[in-house]
Amino acid sequence: MEFKNETINSERDKQILKPSYRNFPMVPKVVFGEGSFDQLGDILMLKRESVDAPMIYLVDDVFKNSSLINRIPLLFEDRIIFQCAEQEPKTEQVDALVANIKENCKELPSGIIGIGGGTVMDLAKAVAIMLKNKGSSVKYQGWDLVNKPAIYHVGIPTISGTGAEVSRTTVLMGPTKKLGINSDYTVFDQVILDPELLQGVPKNKWFYTGMDCYIHCIESLNGTFLNAFSQSYGEKALDLCKDVFLGNLNDSEARAKLMMASWHGGMSIAYSQVGIAHALSYGLSFLLGIRHGLANCLVFQHLQEFYPEGVATFKKILNKHAIDLPKDICKGLSEDQFNIMINVSLKMTPLWENALGKDWKTRISPEKIRDIYSKI
Ligand code: NAD
Ligand code: ZN
Repeated sequence: MEFKNETINSERDKQILKPSYRNFPMVPKVVFGEGSFDQLGDILMLKRESVDAPMIYLVDDVFKNSSLINRIPLLFEDRIIFQCAEQEPKTEQVDALVANIKENCKELPSGIIGIGGGTVMDLAKAVAIMLKNKGSSVKYQGWDLVNKPAIYHVGIPTISGTGAEVSRTTVLMGPTKKLGINSDYTVFDQVILDPELLQGVPKNKWFYTGMDCYIHCIESLNGTFLNAFSQSYGEKALDLCKDVFLGNLNDSEARAKLMMASWHGGMSIAYSQVGIAHALSYGLSFLLGIRHGLANCLVFQHLQEFYPEGVATFKKILNKHAIDLPKDICKGLSEDQFNIMINVSLKMTPLWENALGKDWKTRISPEKIRDIYSKI
């Protein structure tokens, strides 16, 4: 677009021409270190509203019989609610949790603490929002639809890669779509990064969730939205991923570095965007319920045309860790089912635009997407 000088000089047009940059909220408080989980009691003490306003701990039920439970600083009316992380979080699950908490607490909780992976941390974020906002969580799936600040909420990752601990979204499966509640109020008020908590993650889950981080880096660093902010975090996260997945670190170093890779990867996409693997992965998760990390890997292995270096390194990592990705996932799906996945994927406009540029529609077609799905 061309502007004549006299047009640009007017105050009104100067305003219009000013670029608008995102004002991105960051986690204001973070503790890092082995054993730092034990500082939780002191941190929460300062946030307790009254003896009747409890802390609610949403905890991955994989910890049900573990010693971690005895280290949760329960006081007064505090409650632990175990959550199964075998399925991705749903809007109806969030609504049911909120109803249960409102029914059983004398006062609104002082805080929600999510202890687990992306699934439980996302539930904690969503519950904290929905305790203050009316109606069903379905209403808030989208961008900046939340009206009131959430109650105080804390994220404590126990598996690393998604970056859910730093992001301004909580990804929920709704009745018609898998979409995040993206808002400034979603971001955690406090995060505790204790690498010791990653002990005991089964190898496949460690790999798939870790690869989510690796794919965040590749998609961010190869996207058209890239800028120095995203690049600085993305390059650091990618180096850390390479150390963890291709280096020879001891277990403790590997846990600490993966935790920081997840954090930096999350920061990188916060100010850019993910890309094609995520766009197609959403389709797989929506139709077939395949978990986010695995779904990303299933797609990413076939994206050498778009991310040649990233896919070559991914294959090296697969080899090194002797991971056999499941095959024939899409074999036997009907045309209708392919179309559902294609439609979910094509709705992810910002992801495509980041990956392929503003004219992305000329560079990708439903047929091309179907071709990729049919190889999975
Ligand atoms: P997850 O939370 O689903 O957990 C994966 C598995 O690991 C579960 O079986 C869980 O029980 C187990 N597990 C977790 N910690 C463990 C431990 N210390 N020991 C043993 N087992 C453990 O995994 P995830 O990959 O972190 O999260 C996936 C979810 O995150 C998806 O719902 C996805 O949509 C969401 N996500 C959110 C964001 C965001 O920014 N909010 C970003 C990416 C993905
Ligand atoms: Zn992801």
